Amino acid sequence: MKLRSVRGTHDIFGEQIDKFNNISKIVSKNAYLKDFKEIQTPIFEFSELFAKPLGEQSDVVLKEMYSFEDRNNNFLTLRPEYTTPMIRAAITNNLLNEIPLKIFGIGPMFRRERPQKGRYRQFNQINFEILGTKDFLADVELILLSNNILKELLPKSKIRLQINSLGDKNTLIDFKKNLTKYFNTHKNKLSEESINKIDTNPLRILDSKNEGDVEISLSSPKIYEYLTDEAKNHYEDLKRSLNLLDIKFEENANLVRGLDYYCNTVFEFKSDNLGSQDTLLGGGRYDGLIKVLGGPDIPGIGWAAGIERISLLMESEKKISTTLHIAVTNQKFKDYFLHLQKYLSENKISYYWNYKYNLKKSFTKANTSSATHIIIIGENEFNGNFFTIKNLMTGEQKELKLNQIFHHLNDKS
Ligand code: AMP
Repeated sequence: MKLRSVRGTHDIFGEQIDKFNNISKIVSKNAYLKDFKEIQTPIFEFSELFAKPLGEQSDVVLKEMYSFEDRNNNFLTLRPEYTTPMIRAAITNNLLNEIPLKIFGIGPMFRRERPQKGRYRQFNQINFEILGTKDFLADVELILLSNNILKELLPKSKIRLQINSLGDKNTLIDFKKNLTKYFNTHKNKLSEESINKIDTNPLRILDSKNEGDVEISLSSPKIYEYLTDEAKNHYEDLKRSLNLLDIKFEENANLVRGLDYYCNTVFEFKSDNLGSQDTLLGGGRYDGLIKVLGGPDIPGIGWAAGIERISLLMESEKKISTTLHIAVTNQKFKDYFLHLQKYLSENKISYYWNYKYNLKKSFTKANTSSATHIIIIGENEFNGNFFTIKNLMTGEQKELKLNQIFHHLNDKS
């Protein structure tokens, strides 16, 4: 068998892992600033956690879940998204005693989608949720937070925020009925895929990318006409707040999101530089979901962003190479070198060593890595109980006792 990784999965290393770590760091910092607490949930759950809440007719549940039966006949699924596991964790760990609960998580998700640029079968998501308030300020807080994080990670990218309101459950039922009626009368112009969704999931036709579908959707019924006064007010409050905060947004009446549980506010951040997989971050309200999962009847709202898509837009950072190199000229100085290693570790001085007992090779490596200093361990150093340290930029060379090295390296005068 040829050794290979599974289609749609990838190893993360080199420049990519630096970007991933940087994203996690910035996300955690922003979470801390707004008092969101981190939760890590297992990567698999009982399958029933996902099927109903996400929508039995949703693409994720119909085609994309990695589900299996284990030896105890448990039906398990690798998590395709984070919101339901987070809510499950909040309920089973009694975290909802004090609401609103503000939580976030970072980790891998699994969907059996057709792999392409920005779309993988294992990918990493950042997730933020606020459970237990229907105040529109929670919607604003989450949008502001995502805006801040994306701005910090992608200062030069042009990113567009789109928002919409889906109203409450009754609004949606009403709206879906009328959409189905409308699409049935224009069936002949719709794509095969959309025709299949007319009766089961007509909302999804609205965000189809097929040209014919887009044209038909232009004149389809608009959700805004169906909103209750309460939903309208919520949406207007949100828009006013975004304007107050100077956060630019576009209204997109066809923004519906892929999963069944959304209601009221939905939003997405998109980039024009990602090709067809252009959504960086998406979220919305899910006011009935916590109850459906067996928790109290409290509302919730959250968002998820794809780390791979963000990192596609991130510029590579200039990697700061280790500036201190070591040259050990002979195997017999290993013990003497160990003393130096202990000293450097204790003083938190990073260094590079090439495991070659060869002065010339060590110097070549140091010069090609733009190292600033090299410490040489040879016969003289060993016999005289000192270390030679050379400044590779000035050429200056000094013989130092072990305990003088830290001061020498940090002496800026
Ligand atoms: P969703 O849960 O579908 O709303 O996705 C939220 C975010 O996760 C998207 O905006 C993407 O950035 C990312 N994402 C979703 N699916 C994939 C995938 N298959 N591969 C890579 N990133 C994804």
